[in-house]
Amino acid sequence: MKAAVVTKDHKVSVEDKVLRPIKHGEALVDMEYCGVCHTDLHVKNADFGDVTGTVLGHEGIGVVKEIAEGVTSLKVGDRVSVAWFFEGCGHCEYCVSGKETLCRNVKNAGYTVDGGMAEECIVTADYAVKVPDGLDPAAASSVTCAGVTTYKAVKEANIAPGQWLVVFGLGGLGNLALQYAKNVFNAKVIAVDVNDKQLEFAKEMGADLVMNPLNVNVEEEIVKLCDGGAHAAVVTAVAKSAFNSAVNAVRAGGTVVAVGLPPESMDLSIPRLVLDGIRLVGSLVGTREDLKEAFEFAKEGKVVPKVQMRRLEEINEIFDEMEQGKIQGRMVIDLKK
Ligand SMILES: [Zn+2]
Ligand SMILES: [Zn+2]
Repeated sequence: MKAAVVTKDHKVSVEDKVLRPIKHGEALVDMEYCGVCHTDLHVKNADFGDVTGTVLGHEGIGVVKEIAEGVTSLKVGDRVSVAWFFEGCGHCEYCVSGKETLCRNVKNAGYTVDGGMAEECIVTADYAVKVPDGLDPAAASSVTCAGVTTYKAVKEANIAPGQWLVVFGLGGLGNLALQYAKNVFNAKVIAVDVNDKQLEFAKEMGADLVMNPLNVNVEEEIVKLCDGGAHAAVVTAVAKSAFNSAVNAVRAGGTVVAVGLPPESMDLSIPRLVLDGIRLVGSLVGTREDLKEAFEFAKEGKVVPKVQMRRLEEINEIFDEMEQGKIQGRMVIDLKK
């Protein structure tokens, strides 16, 4: 079967690979789609360590074609996802307290284990979240990473209906954060981005207000308009300045949820943090339960990922486009083409 394999020189080669037989508790999945995420770029560039020989992909969707002994959660014919959170140990403090993505012995698809950017993929059955009938599998691929990540981030923001949430960075992730915040949590959303094109799209998707920090002082405007600041902010931007602005744009008692991963440190006024009781939290993908919920809302049409179909052989081109910042929405590999 064909697979996108990481090479020593930080490229991806599409090659034939023979999978080992499935073991107790595992299922073999016939892959249909796999989205290309910014994290894949870091993985293949060895930013998180050398993974030469690994099959990429953690936004995979496919149909179960074979189950091993001991599998009770899946049956042949079920449509399932291959997510970044591939498997936890199942018994540590994180795994048993609803924080399984923080498991210290976690396995990640397309990084520590072979992922879903291939014609076939082996999954641990109990950890492969089912895709509900009626949800387009190509759209489901984007929910598997970008969708659940932003859904979880908005959940962490702890906002009530009608409250103000600021989304910093309106790219692929930010746009989904906006949709979950508006259509699932009934928040009022302010979209902030330096790119007017992204802001136009955010407006079309229902943003109540859009702001470009190149034209206005975003922090001052938000404090004025929201009567003391927004209730929360979700930062998907990869610029340190957005994180600093977020802290200044929320009201006393407000929450800032960090999702984007700029390599630097942020500035943080300790008196601001303490005296105004600001909560600052990092949010990493989502649990199996979060993904199940995120799928349901997408199925109801509340969240519509913007996807574009590509072929597996185009993978290196897609990474080049990603590095040049040319990508709008999500590139999804059609593994049946
Ligand atoms: Zn991802
Ligand atoms: Zn664990």
